[in-house]
Amino acid sequence: FNVPAPKNEPVKAYAPGSPERAELQKTLKELRSQEIDVPMYIGSEEVRTGNKKPMSPPHDHQHILGYFHEGDASHVEQAINAALGAKAAWETMEWEQRAAIFLKAADLLAGPYRAKINAATMLGQSKNAFQAEIDAACEFIDFLKFNVQYMTEIYAQQPPVSGDGVWNRVEQRPLEGFVFALTPFNFTAIAGNLPTSAAMMGNTIVWKPAYTQIYSAKVLMDVFKEAGVPDGVINLIYVDGPTAGDIIFNHPDFAGIHFTGSTGVFQHIWKTIGENIFKYKSYPRIVGETGGKDFVIAHKSANPKAVAVGLSRGAFEFQGQKCSAASRAYIPNNIWADVKKYLLEDLSSMKMGPTEDFSNFINAVIDEKSFDKISKYITEAKGAEGVEIISGGNFDKSKGYFIEPTVIVTQDPMYKTMQEEIFGPVLTIYVYNAEHFEEALELVDQTSPYALTGAIFSTDRYAIEFATKKLRNAAGNFYINDKPTGAVVGQQPFGGARASGTNDKAGSMINLLRWVSPRTIKETF
Ligand code: GLU
Repeated sequence: FNVPAPKNEPVKAYAPGSPERAELQKTLKELRSQEIDVPMYIGSEEVRTGNKKPMSPPHDHQHILGYFHEGDASHVEQAINAALGAKAAWETMEWEQRAAIFLKAADLLAGPYRAKINAATMLGQSKNAFQAEIDAACEFIDFLKFNVQYMTEIYAQQPPVSGDGVWNRVEQRPLEGFVFALTPFNFTAIAGNLPTSAAMMGNTIVWKPAYTQIYSAKVLMDVFKEAGVPDGVINLIYVDGPTAGDIIFNHPDFAGIHFTGSTGVFQHIWKTIGENIFKYKSYPRIVGETGGKDFVIAHKSANPKAVAVGLSRGAFEFQGQKCSAASRAYIPNNIWADVKKYLLEDLSSMKMGPTEDFSNFINAVIDEKSFDKISKYITEAKGAEGVEIISGGNFDKSKGYFIEPTVIVTQDPMYKTMQEEIFGPVLTIYVYNAEHFEEALELVDQTSPYALTGAIFSTDRYAIEFATKKLRNAAGNFYINDKPTGAVVGQQPFGGARASGTNDKAGSMINLLRWVSPRTIKETF
């Protein structure tokens, strides 16, 4: 099959004086100076309920960027009906046409919409320009292009063996029914990938984004419309979780969920689906990426500077609000003094403030609920025995939800911030006896129920080999001498097991195969 070979989208640097920086700054100004009105998109309709909810930058929560129209149960029904109504035409459309639509979406994001999707992510989710560029522009463009490639490979798979008088074939059908995409705030690329990857394979979608990502979800929807996604194929609704879930998970045509979010919500959804299993026409596909308590372990041979950079970037990019963020570290005592020195140096150079000022590396956490949850962990750590805060520790929500990048050192490897997912700018470090590497690996493996990402730093190949074997089940994405964040589509397929998800690797053929239900046909002559 002849589709354009995917290449990763080059990341723009937004250097001072560059034309892309000027354009992004202009777009930020424009978006800040208007109040947009965001409808739901159901079938061919733009639905305005009048139940308007404000959208504000997390770093400037008194400023209004616009309002979205919240829906109710009737809109969930309407979205399901629109998805089911659009299904026949969409699934019988030649796959080349579907591929062309999503390649065009990638092209729009790379060109005319690049500044807008980045600016919307910077304002709506408080992501700095560089983090927005690698997410909203590059990663989503990559998802679209690589998924088109995987899709063609699926359709081009070797047919089964046939014999004299027998012709066997396999047809890749989409799922029967509609797919529900429930998407998170922390990556605009994931919010875009969850509906589009299933849609690409011929499914039609009800898409419910996190309320804190609606501002950039609207821009994605504009892109999908302009690229030619037909009405009803992707229906975007804003309805509270329990109301939406009640209708969707009770519907006989519910065919699958594509989810990224918290472990608790995913487990609840799984249980609900189980309880309703007799109601469905098919066993629904359940594909989810959930939490993480991602580790960095250094061996006594590790380069202290490399470890420090891995920690500061891995833990604090986007305020630690990545499922993949480094949040617990195990550092041997022989290199701890140097790691600490470099880490504190690096942290002292990280400025905190609004995203509109490009020199701010740290911005705000997503909302008040997150702020309160994260700051509670810090407050508790301040009074805890055997626990010391060596950097940060301050927070202030008067203007925006700002929390300093905070480093906790604990003498107890089972201290709660070593075990629980915080989803914020908090890193906890346990300093271990350098001669007890194997025990430290045991701790890494056993301390948390999650297994999303992790990293080992070492210059000793035996230690690397030993850790790689020992931690075989501790992370779905395992990094050697690099930070545990920043998986690139097409390069490091992303996903974890244990409590971190179903490990259907976002940005890989495995994921796209979840959205088809093959039919085998045998014909005899
Ligand atoms: N894929 C992202 C990374 O590698 C993380 C995705 C997430 O936070 O859900 O950093």
